[in-house]
Amino acid sequence: MSEILVLVEHVDGDVKKVTLELLTLARSLGTPAAVWAGPGYSDAAKARLAEYGAEKIYVATADEIGDYVVAPKAEVLAHLVAERSPAAVFVAATGEGKEIAGRLAVKTDSGVISDAVGVGEGFVAEQSIFGGGVNVHSRVTKGTPIITVRPNSTAPVAAAAAGAEEKVEVALSDAARAARIVERVVQEKGARPELTEAAIVVSGGRGVGSGENFSIIEKLADALGAAVGASRAATDAGWYPHQFQVGQTGKTVSPQLYIAAGISGAIQHRAGMQTSKTIVVINKDAEAPLFEIADFGVVGDLFQVVPQLTEEVEKRK
Ligand SMILES: Cc1cc2nc3c(=O)[nH]c(=O)nc-3n(C[C@H](O)[C@H](O)[C@H](O)COP(=O)(O)OP(=O)(O)OC[C@H]3O[C@@H](n4cnc5c(N)ncnc54)[C@H](O)[C@@H]3O)c2cc1C
Repeated sequence: MSEILVLVEHVDGDVKKVTLELLTLARSLGTPAAVWAGPGYSDAAKARLAEYGAEKIYVATADEIGDYVVAPKAEVLAHLVAERSPAAVFVAATGEGKEIAGRLAVKTDSGVISDAVGVGEGFVAEQSIFGGGVNVHSRVTKGTPIITVRPNSTAPVAAAAAGAEEKVEVALSDAARAARIVERVVQEKGARPELTEAAIVVSGGRGVGSGENFSIIEKLADALGAAVGASRAATDAGWYPHQFQVGQTGKTVSPQLYIAAGISGAIQHRAGMQTSKTIVVINKDAEAPLFEIADFGVVGDLFQVVPQLTEEVEKRK
């Protein structure tokens, strides 16, 4: 089967979950080959990629690759596309991933599809648009299909493969050295899991009423080991930071359990959470549209329901 290149997303040497999703997806369409670009590669990373189906791992670890913004990664991929003629290239639909995909498309004179939520036979990509109201199927007709896939579109499934390592040396162009990274600031991380990777997400909306009140959402999240999310109404009001916004213009999540408290269920919010496996809705208005997609609904005041739920969860620990 033909090789499908999967660009590895990694932070501090750790392979991000989205890469495991892309390897799983690639396995259904061809032979996955992971592409590691930048420093931090280790035996642990290799083992993780092989565990999720990477038959081959192309490794380009030159320090320079990490010294410049996205351009070197696009050059590493372009080099591999020219040399290996893969059937397709999958990249995570993150801010960085989408920029790399665009640059790669120009370099290889290929078509690019962004923000796919699935890829089927013949590399037909599915995109969910207009806040999830319409699904579009499209295919690249020129060059190598380059597809960015949204995190949480596929459940990662382990399937051990060879993970045969191959070093890649690429001489970076002057253009790739145009924007150098001069400083890195480590983002302060709490004890909670990352929103897009969490198995459980507890989100609050306008119904929460204030920034201070978000502490009851946080308490439930902490009792469950969950991440905290918020609707745009809550983030726009300054009650919770924008990076936690779930929805069309925020993060897309697809956890095992999504608990929404005081969120009405606008289509733009649904777009970011409707693929969650189990959806629990707490809202005092029985007509709130989010109940339409709820697996379990509680019509009630979140200021009563959420603390009670937290207490019950704590009791069972
Ligand atoms: C281009 C565009 C992009 C957008 N992108 C996003 C996005 O990414 N994410 C997003 O979320 N929105 C987005 N929006 C905004 C979206 O349209 C809604 O305005 C927003 O989702 C509403 O947030 P909400 O449900 O928290 O607030 P509301 O719609 O005001 O709902 C609040 C809910 O809380 C309930 N409630 C109130 N008090 C209580 C209580 N004490 N107990 C229980 N329930 C209570 C109410 O019954 C109500 O259902 C976007 C809009 C546009 C136009």
